[in-house]
Amino acid sequence: MVEDCLFCGIVAGTIPSQTIDADERTVSFMDINPATPGHALVVPRAHSADLLAIDPADLEACAASAQRLVKRMGEVLKPDGFNLINACGAAAWQTVFHFHLHVIPRYEDDPLKLPWLPRGGEADEIAALAERLRVDG
Ligand code: 5GP
Ligand code: ZN
Repeated sequence: MVEDCLFCGIVAGTIPSQTIDADERTVSFMDINPATPGHALVVPRAHSADLLAIDPADLEACAASAQRLVKRMGEVLKPDGFNLINACGAAAWQTVFHFHLHVIPRYEDDPLKLPWLPRGGEADEIAALAERLRVDG
């Protein structure tokens, strides 16, 4: 547990939350500023700042918990779809530096717009980036 970490406080129960699921490695609770009705967060019990720092076993556990939540939300809320989002770094809109996955139920008529403006890709640029990123390249 890291002092002054909001989500460590929620995991420890010293900061109140609407917790909806928990297991050995993760806790899931409602986001206080929901993007859509049902928006929840999944966090590892063990503190890690972000996607770069999280233990792969905790990441796996968070993914499994997110899938469990999606199934539960599907049964209870009957949304039309879901977004699973992680923000890693302030430039990517991360505001709480304890790793979390956003599980956001989506509804055909919901007002949520992801801040993402797709633009036409340049094939050469995409291929050059792929060349740099390819693991065995
Ligand atoms: P981020 O911007 O880091 O991806 O997401 C942080 C999320 O935590 C935001 O969606 C925000 O609404 C949520 N959040 C911030 N403070 C609290 C809190 O005290 N309790 C809960 N349940 N969620 C919070
Ligand atoms: Zn923490």
